[in-house]
Amino acid sequence: MERHILAVFPHPDDETFSSGGFISSQTSQGVPMTYICATYGEMGRNMGVSIHTTRETTKVIRKKELQDACEILGIETLHYLGYRDKTLEFEDIEEVSARIKEVIDQVKPSLILTFYPGYAVHPDHDACGAATIHAVSQMKPEERPTVYAVAISTDYEKVLGKPDVVLDVAAFSENKLEAIKAHASQTEAMLAAMGAPDLSKKWLSIEQFYTYKF
Ligand SMILES: [Zn+2]
Repeated sequence: MERHILAVFPHPDDETFSSGGFISSQTSQGVPMTYICATYGEMGRNMGVSIHTTRETTKVIRKKELQDACEILGIETLHYLGYRDKTLEFEDIEEVSARIKEVIDQVKPSLILTFYPGYAVHPDHDACGAATIHAVSQMKPEERPTVYAVAISTDYEKVLGKPDVVLDVAAFSENKLEAIKAHASQTEAMLAAMGAPDLSKKWLSIEQFYTYKF
């Protein structure tokens, strides 16, 4: 059993889509969990139907949505780094990484979840993964937590090979779907277009990670 799991992702909803099933499986067994969300996701793709929605109100809405999703997923502690959405790649990696390291030192995770830098499509995703990997790489090898890196680019398997951690999280796909629904500003339109999602579908029932090799 993990001692403590730390997730480090840049946007509210990254945790749910990448690893909501795995997170649920762990927290339901009593594993403590902390999430560092690097931005408030105020530049989210879907600004909602109201033309009056501003970046500020999007921030407020997404904070509430993430709080709800964390409750559904059993994530006890949520830290925001407060960087501006879509600008993480321009931040000093040393600074971002030092802030992540502070939390690592506090909670002493046995496992970290983050994006696989270079294979995470969005520049914020890559930058967040890179800062996390950088923080862990500076620790003594014997003190480093395991890092599960999430790859989402279309070509990742060609370059990295098959992920070594492939988890059937079907038992938790309903919970994952609830958390997806909690991120309504980002997912409502998608879910409406989809109709009733089939819980056995791969995107809800299989989660995969690469154990990062330092
Ligand atoms: Zn994201």
